[in-house]
Amino acid sequence: MNHPDCIFCKIVEGKIPSTKVFENDKVYAFKDLHPQAFKHYLFVHKSHTRDVNDLILTDGNQVADIFSAIQQVTVNEKLDQMGFRVVTNMGSHGGQTVFHTHFHLLGGEPLKGFGR
Ligand code: AMP
Ligand code: ZN
Repeated sequence: MNHPDCIFCKIVEGKIPSTKVFENDKVYAFKDLHPQAFKHYLFVHKSHTRDVNDLILTDGNQVADIFSAIQQVTVNEKLDQMGFRVVTNMGSHGGQTVFHTHFHLLGGEPLKGFGR
């Protein structure tokens, strides 16, 4: 079920343009508009949830759907060879700005942060 005012639901439906990097029946992935790394993609489930805690209570299988997509993209683009990072922000302290659950995939260069 999709949310009428959600920009990522509109992206999934093609009502707002995006640069697609992956799609199957359950998951859509696209380039982040403001990349924080050489490669920065967003992975969303086609079924709307607000954040990761909402997602896991709604249907925990969505996590596997999303990480399966991440596995395929990272192998196809050879990001698995040097590594990558997956991040999800939740709520105000987490810095979440779009309230359709999404996983950031960052890679293509050495990443800073987390003590580095
Ligand atoms: P977050 O701050 O974790 O909620 O991440 C939201 C992300 O969505 C940010 O990295 C934005 O750059 C990105 N974003 C917002 N609108 C769009 C859009 N129309 N197309 C692609 N990325 C977007
Ligand atoms: Zn949505």
